[in-house]
Amino acid sequence: MKPAFSQSARDILRDRYLWRDENRNPIEKPEEMLRRVATHVAGAERTLPLQYKWADEFYEIMAKLLFMPNSPTLMNAGRPSPHGQLAACFVVGVEDSMDSICEALRKQMLIHKSGGGTGFNFSKLRSEGAKVNSTNGRASGPVSFMGLFDKATETVQQGGMRRGANMGILNIDHPDIRKFIHCKDKDGTITNFNISVGVSDSFMKKAEENPCGDEAALLAEIADSAWRTGDPGIIFLDAINRGNTTPELGELTATNPCGESPLYPNEACNLGSINLSLLVRDGEFDYETLRGVAAVAARFLDDVIEINDYPLPEISQAVKQTRKIGLGVMGWADLLFRLRVPYDSEEALALAENIMRTIRETACETSVELGREKGVPETLAHLGRRNATLTCIAPTGTIALLAGCSSGIEPLFALEHTRVRTQIDGKKVVMKQVNRCYEEARKEGLDEETMKKVFVTSHDISPAAHVRMQGSFQKYTDLAVSKTINLRHECGVKDVIGAYTLAWKEGCKGITIYRDGSKQSQVLYTKEDE
Ligand code: ADP
Repeated sequence: MKPAFSQSARDILRDRYLWRDENRNPIEKPEEMLRRVATHVAGAERTLPLQYKWADEFYEIMAKLLFMPNSPTLMNAGRPSPHGQLAACFVVGVEDSMDSICEALRKQMLIHKSGGGTGFNFSKLRSEGAKVNSTNGRASGPVSFMGLFDKATETVQQGGMRRGANMGILNIDHPDIRKFIHCKDKDGTITNFNISVGVSDSFMKKAEENPCGDEAALLAEIADSAWRTGDPGIIFLDAINRGNTTPELGELTATNPCGESPLYPNEACNLGSINLSLLVRDGEFDYETLRGVAAVAARFLDDVIEINDYPLPEISQAVKQTRKIGLGVMGWADLLFRLRVPYDSEEALALAENIMRTIRETACETSVELGREKGVPETLAHLGRRNATLTCIAPTGTIALLAGCSSGIEPLFALEHTRVRTQIDGKKVVMKQVNRCYEEARKEGLDEETMKKVFVTSHDISPAAHVRMQGSFQKYTDLAVSKTINLRHECGVKDVIGAYTLAWKEGCKGITIYRDGSKQSQVLYTKEDE
């Protein structure tokens, strides 16, 4: 069976994914790439017949565009060591010593070179100006060190394909928190980091209960900065730890770059996403196919752990202890279009929850089966399954383009848009696109009122509806949900604070907001902006 990639997906594959010879000419076709990935991943199965069987199953769900693993798996599966790194998400620990900072920097550079993104919580570092005993000098503080990690990111290219990405977290009680909140104020500073403030439940409670207290003022300062620049985001540390299935291994304090994977230092997680937009049969959501795809995909992701070539032995060891996998979704907005369900409706929230519950249940059953078949890690004996986490919702920035569907659980930014894509040779290509489901519905001649209700875009949806959608998906997501709460340009700081409070109450693990037009460069332009 030939893969169902569109022409624009094939272009992206040619520019960034297919293997090349020394003259940079592709040496494989998209079909061969999927075969390579399927065969290599199925190499984790124990017998030859099993390897053949699963390679075919893996190939089929990818070729039908029902499932895509994260980019490093597509790019690197089957590459000889040391290039066979397949996970997207890593967390690196940083302690308050020069040794530890250097070590973290080394790890970051090796992980970026391998194609992964890194997250750090810098809260253990002493504050700027604090005493350094060994030299009688003064410490530079976490923000200054973050600049170092940012520079290193700029220097390391990931196999010529893309630059690395980072998450920097500082907890709200760190003395340098205000400097941290404003560290990206100036356009063009610390550009390779997303930043987030780690807050506790008690902080949020105090901010809510006492509008004149320090906590409320700090929350307002965060909101004001995010309103102006999009940064920082917030991470709800208690929510993350409530969802932790291995609390005996310690507290979780950091996530990967886009916030969807809370992990321990040295842990890595590989992700994969199911394309919901294709799961419609006779106008209804097709749960049966979903279950089938989720079972195969969960096995795929567990196999990836086995054959992954980790950049450091301590990472390999940490990963094998918990075997975290992150199965999620993409194409949610397209699915809702096809089912004629408005994004901002109770029906959509209920469907989100049901779909995610089904995926989690199926992945959990698969993980239990895999445990019986291949063993349960010692640390997970109490769970009786092979993987500490099963579900995660990634941004799916590129793989959604490959699958030809809307990204992650995001609504569409516009029904028609032009996209500016930078090719590997640096040339910018302008691509004009009309959403396929929108086009189909227009041809069908749906009445005006239904069109208006169903075909809503990001800025038609209220901030609260965005947040509630994130909360609905979070319920059955073991790791976290990547989502941007997109606000209209005219929204106020109060709306941002409102979104924070609602996200916390809804059980979200973090929140990122973006107010339209608040940054100078945007990747997407609506039709009017051309
Ligand atoms: P993709 O669609 O390419 O598989 P996503 O947009 O879903 O990737 O991002 C998933 C995760 O991959 C991110 O949260 C981050 O950990 C990692 N990632 C994304 N972009 C980069 C990058 N440029 N460099 C390193 N890691 C990245």
